[in-house]
Amino acid sequence: MKCHICGDQYDQADITPSGSCRWCARVERFSAFAASCGLTRFPDPSGERYLYRLNGDIAGKKSECLDFMDDLWNALVRAKGAAGGDLVLG
Ligand SMILES: [Zn+2]
Repeated sequence: MKCHICGDQYDQADITPSGSCRWCARVERFSAFAASCGLTRFPDPSGERYLYRLNGDIAGKKSECLDFMDDLWNALVRAKGAAGGDLVLG
């Protein structure tokens, strides 16, 4: 079966009900979680050195996106309900 996102061929067991391969499905989960945290980028699910944008485009290497650390800090502050204080960066 063909993954509807990357277009590669997979055994039926490796295709999710939504029609994506396991890899793309995990990327989709990372993207959805990032969006739910108010982030616009997320790390490569494999742990490799890249960051991706919510639409799946490569945002760059982690080392080129140092501002992502501030985004993560702010997401953490929001997640802990502390965004009303002076802990938010930027
Ligand atoms: Zn795929």
